[in-house]
Amino acid sequence: MNWTPERISDALSRVLPRVTQPARYIGGEWNSIRKDWDQARSRVALAFPDIYELGMSNLGLAILYDILNRRSDVLAERVYAPWVDMQAEMRRLDLPPFSLESRHALSQFDILAISLPYEQLYTNVLSLLDLAGIPLHSSARRVDHPLILAGGSAMINPEPMWPFLDACFLGEGEEAIIEILDCHAQWRDEGRVGGRVELLRRLARIEGVYIPSFYESRYDASGALASTQPRAEFADVAPAEVMKRIVAVMPPPVTDFIVPYIDTVHNRAAIEIQRGCTRGCRFCQAGMIFRPVRERPVDEVLAAVDRMAAATGFEEISFLSLSSSDYSSIQALVDGVVERHGAKKLSISLPSLRIESFSVALMEKLEKGRRRSGFTFAPEAASDRLRDVINKPIATDLMLQTAHEVYSRGWTTIKMYFMIGHPTQTLADVEAIARLGQQVLQIGRQHIGGKAKVHVSVSTLVPKPQTPFQWARMEDEATLRQHQDHLRTRLRQPGMHLSLNAPRETAMEAFLSRGDRKLAEVIERAWRLGARFDAWSEQFKWDAWQQAFAEAGLDMDWYARRQRPLEEPLPWDHLSVGVKKDFMIAEYLHSLQGAVVDDCRDHCFSCGIITQFKDERRQAQTELGGDGGWGCPTFGRGAERQPVSPVPVPLYFSDEMSPGQMGQFAERVPQRQRMLALREP
Ligand code: SF4
Repeated sequence: MNWTPERISDALSRVLPRVTQPARYIGGEWNSIRKDWDQARSRVALAFPDIYELGMSNLGLAILYDILNRRSDVLAERVYAPWVDMQAEMRRLDLPPFSLESRHALSQFDILAISLPYEQLYTNVLSLLDLAGIPLHSSARRVDHPLILAGGSAMINPEPMWPFLDACFLGEGEEAIIEILDCHAQWRDEGRVGGRVELLRRLARIEGVYIPSFYESRYDASGALASTQPRAEFADVAPAEVMKRIVAVMPPPVTDFIVPYIDTVHNRAAIEIQRGCTRGCRFCQAGMIFRPVRERPVDEVLAAVDRMAAATGFEEISFLSLSSSDYSSIQALVDGVVERHGAKKLSISLPSLRIESFSVALMEKLEKGRRRSGFTFAPEAASDRLRDVINKPIATDLMLQTAHEVYSRGWTTIKMYFMIGHPTQTLADVEAIARLGQQVLQIGRQHIGGKAKVHVSVSTLVPKPQTPFQWARMEDEATLRQHQDHLRTRLRQPGMHLSLNAPRETAMEAFLSRGDRKLAEVIERAWRLGARFDAWSEQFKWDAWQQAFAEAGLDMDWYARRQRPLEEPLPWDHLSVGVKKDFMIAEYLHSLQGAVVDDCRDHCFSCGIITQFKDERRQAQTELGGDGGWGCPTFGRGAERQPVSPVPVPLYFSDEMSPGQMGQFAERVPQRQRMLALREP
C-alpha cells in the first residue's frame, strides 16, 4: 500500500486505543516544527531507536533538529522506536514507521539520520529498517531508498553494524550534517547519476564521514583481525584513516525545546556549558572522544536560560558538562542564574561536580529554598590505590569531609557511583566500596540520625574503544556475581540502598563495543531470533544472543572479555578521534603502575588533539578572542611553554619517584600531598 500521511493518520486512530502510551505516536507538541513537505529541498528523518520518552531527552537529536530546521530549504522530523505492542500492531496492518511531525513514512525521506549513543540500540535499527520496508543491507538498497546515516558515541566503533549502514559519521555533526544534506541534494538534483555508489563516493570526501562498504577487513589464521583498509576501487576517495570532525566553537544552544505531553526520562531543558574533559579518567570514553575542552561563554548560557524559560515553561534546566567544576565561569554562572531566576520556580541541576566543599556551596546556592534532591558523588572506585589506576585520584578523606558538609547542610541522601571490574581490582577493592558506603551513612547519622540515606550504585566496567582500557580484559561472569553478592551481604542495612547491573546485559554491551565486522552476522541473527530493546531488562533475550554466536561459530567471551595484546590490530584502528594510539598505550601502561596524571589544562600531555585540530583552534581564537574557550594550554611564541614529553613518564606519579620528583606536582593531587608527607623523614 502507498502509505500517505492521511492513510497513516487513519490507521493510527484505530491502533492508538490498543497500545500503551499512545501519546508517544501523535506528535504536535509545543515547539515541534511542521514545515511544508513539498517546498523542502531536503527531507531528513532524525531517528532515535528507543522509545519516545528516552529519545525526547537526547540532546544530540534536539541540536540537529534545531540546526536543520533553521534552514528554510530543509525539513527535519522525528522518529522513535515503536514499543513492542505498537510494533505488533504495525506488522498486523503493515503500517510503516512514520515521522511525528507530518506522518510521512520513513521510506519517503531523503535521509534517515540515526543517533546511536549506545550499542544496545543496534537491533532496534534493524527493526526500524525492516518495518519501513528498507532492505537491511546497504548493498541491497535501491537508488530511491533513503540514505541510512548513523552517528553518536557508539559509532566510534561502527564495525559490527557495517553492512546495515550506508554512511557513519565520526564526531560532532553540527556543521557536517549540512554538507551531507547538500551533497545528497545535489546528487539527486543531477538525476542520481552513478547510483548510490556515486553518492557514497561524494560523501566519503566530507571530513568525518566513513563509508563502511568502501573498506575491507582481513583476518589472520587464528581469526583475529589483521587489518581494515580501503578497497582498491575506492582508495581515491576513502582515506586510510577517517578522522573525527569537531566544531571550533560550539553553536548557539537549543532554547525552544519541544515540550512533551507525557513524562519523559528527563522532563527538562538542557544547556551544554562545556564540551570535552581534561581529567583523563582511563575508563571514560566520553573524556577521550570529546576532546578538546571547549567552553560556552557564560553570557551566552545565561541568555539561553532566559530564552528557554520563556519559550518552554520548563521548570527545570540541566547544565550539561562532563566535569562542571572545571567550567571556568562556574561561580559567575551560578550567581547569574540565582540573580535572574532565583525568585522563580526554575530549578537547576549541575551534574558532574567534583567531590569538594566548593561543590557543596554551589549546590546550596542553587537549591536554596527548594526541595533538595540527593547529592551525587562519582568516585568510581573506593580505594585510593584503584582510583590511581583509573586516574580519578580523589582522596577518601576528602570524600568523607564532603559528606559531613552535605549532611550538615540539610541534604538527606548521598548517591555514590562505583564500578567493579577495573584492571587490577581485587576483592579488597570491592570490600572498600562497602566500607566507604557505610562510613558515609555513619556520617549522615551523626548529623541527621535515621533520616540519613546512602544510595550505592555499582556498575561493571565495559572496556570501551578509544580509551586507555581498550585492551583490558573484562571481568568474568562468575567473579562479577561473587563481587555483587559480597556487596549485597555487606550493604544490607536500613538507610542503605544498593543497585547493581545484570552481568549478562553488560556482557552484551562489551562484545558489541569492541566487536569486528564478523559480529554483523550475529546481530542480524539475534534480531531474527527476537532480540530487540536490548537495553530493557524485561526484553533482553540472552538466549537469542547465545544461539546467534553459536550459529556463527564465534566465541562470545573472545569478544567480550579477552585481554587484547597491545600489538593486535583493533577493529577501529582506521577511525580516529584525534587522540594518538601511543598516548592510549602510555596511559594503559601507567594505569597498571598506579601512576596518576593530572588535569591537562595545566599541563599538556601531548595526546595529539592540539596538533590535529590546530586550524579549528585558530578559528576559535579569531571568533571568540583569547584562547577561544579551549581548555588546551596556549603554546607558541610569547606564551609560556609547558614541558611536553611524547612519553610523559616524568609527569606521572609513581611510588618509585623520589619525594623531590613528586614534590613538583604533588600539590595538585591532595592524596599525594599526604603520601609525600608520610615519606619525608
Ligand atoms: S592536547 Fe594536551 S591539553 Fe589538549 S586535550 Fe590533549 S593532553 Fe589535554
